[in-house]
Amino acid sequence: MLEFLYAGTYWEHAEDKRGILPSEKLYKRYVERAEPRTDEQKERDPVMVNVRMFALADKFGIAGLKKEVMKKWDGYAEECLEQRPSAGKTTVGMERRARAVMGSFQRLMDAAEVANDLVPGSELAEKILRTVAQVAPWVSRLQNAEKYKELMVRLGGNSELALRMFDLTCRASDEFIQVQSQRQDRIIESKLAVRETGEKIIDRLHAAACDHSRFRELRCPPHTCSRSRVGYRANVAEPAFDEDDGVFQWCCKNCDESWDADEIMPGLSDTQRASSDDDEDDG
Ligand SMILES: [Zn+2]
Repeated sequence: MLEFLYAGTYWEHAEDKRGILPSEKLYKRYVERAEPRTDEQKERDPVMVNVRMFALADKFGIAGLKKEVMKKWDGYAEECLEQRPSAGKTTVGMERRARAVMGSFQRLMDAAEVANDLVPGSELAEKILRTVAQVAPWVSRLQNAEKYKELMVRLGGNSELALRMFDLTCRASDEFIQVQSQRQDRIIESKLAVRETGEKIIDRLHAAACDHSRFRELRCPPHTCSRSRVGYRANVAEPAFDEDDGVFQWCCKNCDESWDADEIMPGLSDTQRASSDDDEDDG
């Protein structure tokens, strides 16, 4: 703490490692093991150092030090735990995040227990707990059976921690459901776009097959390549799939120009629709 008062920041390192190892490496050196960590390992862990710093800052009312701790936590979380906001917007990002959190499980749970004990309800305690709560659906999966057991034991012995974890898990589940349903919506929308544009293309090819003289209409529209010397045949617009937009369209192999599926020649259903509209007008 004195270090912070003099320098405006502090080292998370043990005395003998100061100035030798950059802080970033200290966080990244962590390796998740099956056996529990020793008290000394826990104590030296930079994440735990931050928790103790935060508790001190809280005790003595030093807002600047709390801010500094949060800055260090946020940096670590972004760098090592995939906590960038964008990671929580897709299921792929969420899975990556879950792998990162599971790879630091003991470290996070040790820190969460101490933070929840020393500074319950604080910004730091909540953020640490939330990183675990966010990945709850993955903790319970079979390949993490040991971690799940460990979590149950830890929560079983600490009702305050269990209550906070449950609350945050419910909130995280809600976010998870929202991301899932948005993903489903996007998949459905893209399938509909493929189908709709594909039908328009087929409809136009069908119209030309029924009336060969209409093949002429599948030419690249005159304003783009009518003056080309390559000739009429090369100017035919062909159906193509646009990978970027996920739709079928027409593409001229001569000038590379492309058009939406309904921009070239009215299809059979378009003309049928038009004539049935006329019928309705007549009636
Ligand atoms: Zn063209």
